[in-house]
Formats: sequence, C-alpha cells, structure tokens
Amino acid sequence: MQQSALERVKSLVRNIPDFPVKGIQFKDLTTVLKDPQALATISDALAEMYRGRGITKVVGIESRGFIAGAILASRIGAGFVPIRKPGKLPADTIKKSYAKEYGVDTIEIHADAIVPGDVVLLHDDLLATGGTMLAAYELVKAMQPAKVYMNFICSLPALKGRDLFPQEVEVTSLFDFD
Ligand code: AMP
Repeated sequence: MQQSALERVKSLVRNIPDFPVKGIQFKDLTTVLKDPQALATISDALAEMYRGRGITKVVGIESRGFIAGAILASRIGAGFVPIRKPGKLPADTIKKSYAKEYGVDTIEIHADAIVPGDVVLLHDDLLATGGTMLAAYELVKAMQPAKVYMNFICSLPALKGRDLFPQEVEVTSLFDFD
C-alpha cells in the first residue's frame, strides 16, 4: 500500500468542531466513504494487513465499525459479527457495561457469535479514549478465542486509548491524527 494513498484518505476526513458536544472535534469519515477511490484504499490496506493471519471472525462495533469491518471480513474470508447497543440483538446475548465520560454505556454480542479457537479481529472506525474497544475486548475474551487483534481506521494518540489495552494485544490503525 502506497503511503500517498493513505495520506489522500486522511485528507478527506472532515473535521466537525463541537460535535456531538462542545469541545469535541468530530472526525467525520462519511467524506471518505463516499469517495470510491478512498473506500477501495481502505479495503485494500486492511486486506493487505490481515490476509493470511488465520482470522476467522471480524467483530465490528456499532455502528461505524460495521462498514469497513464487513468489507474486510469478506476480503479475507472471515465471518462478520456485530457488537451492538442494548436491546438490538434478537437472540441470547452477553453484555458489558463500561464507564464513559458521563454515565455508563452497555454493549452486547450474541452469545454464540464466537466459538473457542476463533481468531478474532476487533474493528472500529476510530480510537479515542479506548473505553468502547476495551469493553468489546472483554466481551470477546470471555468467549475464549485463540487470539484477538484490534484495528481502527484512524486513531487520536493524544487521548492515550492504546494504554487501556493489554500490552500483548497487537493494535493497528491506518493513520493517526496528531
Ligand atoms: P472511545 O471509547 O472514546 O475510544 O470512543 C470510541 C467511539 O466513539 C468510536 O466508535 C468512535 O466512532 C467514536 N468517537 C469518539 N471520539 C470521536 C471523534 N473525535 N470523532 C469521531 N468519532 C469519535
């Protein structure tokens, strides 16, 4: 993957100041996704990174993690599993609650989504504080996968989300915002 192609993707991310609340600089990836060349770059870059690593399930976090997560799963011959907000999944679930800046949030996964021995790639669009991904990691770990990887399209390293995750977990992002 040429670095210039990823630089182009990064340049297409739209900054929205004070969304959804004052003080947050929202990274809007819809301006990337609507560009056919940028979408193909993301698909190719992720497939290059994860092809041949034995991944059996890509787990995407609601809702922006569904987009590239499902594309990647198809590219590498893995299945796709959604992690959703409470009350959305129809069959038996396991849940995890976690602290957010204000209050508590909960996420769910189907209880039969991961089987022991699965090699799992957890995917979301953006790493901020890492709280959401840590909760997703703990949900998936409880289902006894053989290995878990984590990937984001982009990350905000200044928020130190990486520090929340166990040291042994390989975490990647296609590009970072300083
Ligand atoms: P966190 O748990 O803080 O890492 O937040 C992760 C989730 O919130 C991801 O699903 C992101 O899509 C979303 N998110 C958090 N901060 C931002 C931001 N500045 N711009 C866009 N999305 C964000």
